[in-house]
Amino acid sequence: MFVDVHAHLIHPSFAGEEDAVAVRAKQAGVTRVIVNGLEPRSNRAVLELCRRHENLLPALGIYPVDAVAHLIDRAAWPHPWPPPEPFDPDQEIDFIASVASELVAIGECGLDAYWVTDHMPEQERVLRRLVEVALAADKPLILHTRKAEERTFAILQEMGVTRADFHCFGGKLKLALQIAEAGYYLSIPPVVVRAESFQKMVQKLPLERLLTETDCPYMGPDRERNEPAKVPLGVARMAELRHLDVDTMAAHLAANFEALFRVPAA
Ligand SMILES: [Zn+2]
Repeated sequence: MFVDVHAHLIHPSFAGEEDAVAVRAKQAGVTRVIVNGLEPRSNRAVLELCRRHENLLPALGIYPVDAVAHLIDRAAWPHPWPPPEPFDPDQEIDFIASVASELVAIGECGLDAYWVTDHMPEQERVLRRLVEVALAADKPLILHTRKAEERTFAILQEMGVTRADFHCFGGKLKLALQIAEAGYYLSIPPVVVRAESFQKMVQKLPLERLLTETDCPYMGPDRERNEPAKVPLGVARMAELRHLDVDTMAAHLAANFEALFRVPAA
């Protein structure tokens, strides 16, 4: 049995295939997939999709780039992809709070100083409000921390968060060890088969702080579209790195999943 704590099944690259992807995951032994929302449209679609599949669990949040969409100067947007659609983050946070009892976690949320470097105070304000929602509902957080790993960690500590997963952590190994020491989890995507930074994390972090994710459609074991059914490929590599057999590695990951999310892994 395998788990994926961070998947984006509501994504243009899965359009019309969401249900097939959920079934393929199950056939591959991926018994739990946490589908993460990013903004109003995907948050609602995540809830709907998860109602149709018992192996899919919803997490709703506001991605840090979307969190500042209402402040972005669209004419000055520097990236080749279009700027995110503006919406009122406070209204969306209220919506997330209103359905929090249905969720397995709050996320994706966090801070991003890679794609957007302006408006960090607004990113932090939205993150703090989502942390409050998580604490009030007694739910863990699933965090994006790109180029803002230390700051996100500091906010969690300051606000008394005890349950969180750092997804696709890209910071220094030393910081990852501190995050694990603080009781938080770090989830490893299948790109671990070819990415040395994730291999190091798997070797050095405590076994009881590791989880698995896909971040699909990104972070796959190959250059193809990633999906939850590919989690076992990453776990096989993780098992090798820890000198364990795959079943033992998977059992540790399932136990970690249950400890953080407080739902059965199968
Ligand atoms: Zn993500």
